[in-house]
Order: sequence, then structure tokens, then C-alpha cells
Amino acid sequence: MNEIVGIDLGTTNSLIGVMDAGFPILIADKNGERLTPSVVHFSSDGTPLVGQPATRMRALKPAQTIYSIKRFMGLRGEDLRESDADVSYQLERKSGKALRIAARGKSHSPEEISALILGKLKADAEAALGHPVSRAVITVPAYFNDAQRSATKRAGELAGFTVERIVNEPTAAALAYGLDKLEGHSKIAVFDLGGGTFDISILELNHGVFEVLSTNGNTRLGGDDIDNAIMAHLRAKGFPADKPESIARLREAAVDAKHRLSVEMSVTIEIPFLEGGQNFSAELTRTELERLSRPIIEQTRAHCRRSLADAKLEPSDLDEVILVGGMTRMPLVRTLVAEIFGREPNTSQNPDEAVAIGATIQAGILSGAVRDVVLLDVTPLSLGIETFGGLMNVIIPRNSTIPIKAGEMFTTAVNQQRSMSIKVLQGEREMARDNWPLGQFEIEFEPAPKGVARVGVQFEIDANGILHVLARDTKTGAEKVVEINSAVDVSDEAVEAMISESLEHAFDDMSERVWTETKLKAEEMLSAVDAAFAQIGDTIDAAEKERILGAATQVRDSLATHDARKLQAANNALDEATQNLAAVLVQKAMQSGPG
Ligand code: AMP
Repeated sequence: MNEIVGIDLGTTNSLIGVMDAGFPILIADKNGERLTPSVVHFSSDGTPLVGQPATRMRALKPAQTIYSIKRFMGLRGEDLRESDADVSYQLERKSGKALRIAARGKSHSPEEISALILGKLKADAEAALGHPVSRAVITVPAYFNDAQRSATKRAGELAGFTVERIVNEPTAAALAYGLDKLEGHSKIAVFDLGGGTFDISILELNHGVFEVLSTNGNTRLGGDDIDNAIMAHLRAKGFPADKPESIARLREAAVDAKHRLSVEMSVTIEIPFLEGGQNFSAELTRTELERLSRPIIEQTRAHCRRSLADAKLEPSDLDEVILVGGMTRMPLVRTLVAEIFGREPNTSQNPDEAVAIGATIQAGILSGAVRDVVLLDVTPLSLGIETFGGLMNVIIPRNSTIPIKAGEMFTTAVNQQRSMSIKVLQGEREMARDNWPLGQFEIEFEPAPKGVARVGVQFEIDANGILHVLARDTKTGAEKVVEINSAVDVSDEAVEAMISESLEHAFDDMSERVWTETKLKAEEMLSAVDAAFAQIGDTIDAAEKERILGAATQVRDSLATHDARKLQAANNALDEATQNLAAVLVQKAMQSGPG
């Protein structure tokens, strides 16, 4: 059966859909619910409960009830932000080790927990369709790194799926909005604010072809942060209890109040029967909620600006701004989006369902049920390798359309070098040390004079956004292919920091690069002069020799100054002084050559 299901594996809720007679439909469970809370509860005998029944246990057994697991996918102990560690269940954090969750005396990986959620969706789909389903498309935030994407794929496999494609959520949402506009040509922004993640993407739709022009975002910004702010506010207002059970009930009340305030102007929060028989009651107005939420929602503004700048667009160039994610139901979010983009957002799709609908359409495209749509995605950050002098050499620039393949030739820096270390980097800074190391491996080759050996390095990003690096000794054909799977698990806060740092340090970085390149050139010339003198030194006249040595001393002195302009001038002078020497060398080489 070539049917493929589409799955939105969300921080708060997950959904599954399938194409039915050319239309994407979302599948409901036996209770008629299409939204499955992404929550897993382990009962006393260890049996997992998934979805709505697990949500009910969140207040009663908070330590055994796992929510927001998506935030931990593909992370290591040290990647965890303190505010994220604030969950009602126990995290096992060991530096250098994948983060795990302990419940009922057992340790679980985030993939295993996600697989339980996916397994429930699979069972619901099979019950509704009356036959097994085994192939799936699963969505992830555009900013998920390699490790997070791989973890999501593994979760799908653990649940018994063949994962046909990992798709970016905003791209899926655009499909949901865009399918009926195939004839036109338009540019749209997808503003996706969910429970735990924020994504902004700018896409271009051109006669049935979607192209992502730029993406930006933060996988740790969302409704959960607002829930935390409301909880802190209620505690400051005198919420009297601090047992985990009471805190879980406080969270439930905070979320409920937040939802109600999307339509009402003021709500009363009542939490009775707390420990010691205490009751809690408080008023929360929309104005107060907006005061608490504004700083959190405001953070989306800078991402939107950057995404527009990357796409080289002004807000007025956009034809449409679409909203995705439950949080975009909040009036303040809509107001801010309208302010940022200078237009009212399009709310024609259900913000909770757009991503799942899009995943289903993408599944339909893959299985052949939907035709005439091609999907292109982009890389969020530049990828490259470290080269001489510690410089970052970009092989695939950020915002390149994927899948993509690109390569470059490199040579050796030292005579008789036997191997080269390929250090794969991700980031926007000029110096390798300021970027993130994704992996490192050695390629060996036949020893040769420096500059003679040639190593081709090729990067390929597949349709799932996973990077394959190939290095080949062009002489012997010996090659090595490495799949960069366990990319250093960088948080998206860090991705964001990387981009703003690269702007902040652009000037210094550039002068550091100019200095390094000038220095490499100087060292190369000095060693060439030494080699030439050793070879034909006695045939050069004394005055010329003195001029060359004088110029070489100038270069050596300038090397100590860290003044690129001075060194450049000294390099030029040495180059000038050695013109004749170079000509003599060339002539000599030709005379001794064949024929
Ligand atoms: P998602 O991750 O897209 O499922 O979005 C879930 C987030 O949206 C959670 O933080 C919800 O509390 C929030 N949310 C859902 N419905 C509403 C609503 N009516 N008003 C405000 N926030 C909402």
C-alpha cells in the first residue's frame, strides 16, 4: 500500500492525517478528538497512558507524567537551559550524554517518549482506516538541528513507521494555505508560535513551486513561557502551596485562564482544596496577561526582521502573513504580527491544524496522490570547514535551497603531510574557533610537497536536512564519507546568538580574516624566498640580494605588529623585489625541464 500519513509531532499537541480522494483529512481518535495532547503518563505498573488520559494525570501524578518532550529531543545534558529544567518530572542530565527522563524507576529517552505518542497516532489511524499504516511524513521546527531531526526520525522508527520525510513545520503550513493558490505567484510569511517553539519563515510560491527564502526562530520560545509567567504572577499574588501536585494544578489553571482571556477581558481563577485545605482565588485581566506576555511575544519581532532581511524583502513585498500555532489565537499576538508586518494576518486556516494538514499534503505528494507541487527548503546556518590559519571556509552558505551538493578543493600547508583533518563547522563567523564544530575526521593521502596534494571536500544536505561530508584524495581516489548525525546539539538561543554575534563582530571578524590571509601570504613568500636562495642564491647579484633581504626583514617585522595594512605593504614590496628572482627561477625550471 503506498499510502503515507502526515504527522505534526507538536510540543503541546500532535495530529495525524491522510489524503482521502484528493483531500487532506485529519484523523480523530475513538473519542472524536483530532488533537492528541503530547503527554505520556506511566501508571504504577509501568504501563504508559498517552494523550488525553495522560493529561488528566498531570495534576495528580506530576512526576510520572511527561509533557513538552519535544524540547528535549536530541539534546545532551549540558544543552539544557535552566528554565527548561523546570518540569514536574525528573530529568537525567549528564554532560556529554543524551538527556533522559526518569519515571517509575525507569529511564526513558526523549525518542522513546515521542515514539509512544506516535504509536498512539498510528493506532488511531489504523483503527479509523481499517488497515495498517507504516509510512509517514513528520514535521519539525525549521530550526531543529541535525541531532534533533535525527532523534525525531528515530522516534518514528521506534513507533514502527518508515519515515519518508522530515518536513519543516512552516513549510507544511504554507502548503496547507497555498494549495488553492497554485496559479499565482506570491510571497508569504509563516508566523508559527506554538507551545514551545517559534518559527518565522518567508516563502515564495511560484506556479506550484514552493521555495523557502529564509527561516528564523527559536525552538525554546512559546506558550509555555507565558504559562510560566502567569504562574509566577499568581504565586506572587499569594498562591499558598508548593507541592508538585499543587504546582501542576496551578499550571492547568494558568493555561485555562490564558485561553479564556483570548475571548474574555477578565477571568476568575479558582483552585480549591490545596494542601492543608487551603483555597486560592484570583482575578486576572487581559491587560495584566498582556503586560506579562508582551516581553515574551516581543522576542519574535527581531526574528521576523532578520528573516525579512535574509530574504531581502520589505514587509510591503509580502502578499500574505499566515498564522500557525495555538498561541496565535491570543489577540496580543495578532496585534503584534500586524504591527511587525504592517498588515492584518490571514487567519483562514485553523492554527492548530495547518501544519498537520500540510504534512498530509506533503505525504500525498510523495505517494503520488497530489501532483504539481515541488517543495524546496533552505539551510538555516552556513556550513563549512576550517582551513589554514583557523579561517572558516564556507561550503554551503546559509539560506541555500536543499537538497544541495557543493564542494571545493583544498591543498596541504606542510611538506610531506600525510593526512588532513577535516573539521566540519556550522556558523556565520569568519574565524573557525567562533563557529560550532559539528564533527571532525581525518583523510590520509600520499605524502607530497606542500601545495601539491589535492583533497576534494564535498558537502551534501539531503532532503531531510542531514549533512553528508565526503573527502577525497584526488590523486589516489581514496575517500571517506561521514554522516554528520550527532551534530553538537546547539540550542536555538545559540543559533540566534550566532547570527547576532556575526553582525556585531562583522567588522572585527573581517579584519581578523584580512590579517590572517595577509599573514599566510607573508609566510608563504618568506619560505619561497628561503627556498629560492638555497637553490640559486649564489647567482643573484649582491645589490638585488640585499634589497630582497631588506624587504623580507620588513615583512618579518610587520608580522609582529598585527597591522594588516602595514603587512600588506611589506608583502607588496617583497613581491616587487623578487620579480627578477621569480623570473630566473621560472627560466631555470624550463631549462631543466624535458625537451
Ligand atoms: P501548539 O504547540 O501549536 O499546539 O500551540 C499550543 C499553545 O497554544 C499552548 O501554549 C496553548 O496554551 C496555546 N493556545 C491554544 N489555544 C489558545 C487560545 N485560545 N488562546 C491562547 N493560547 C492558546
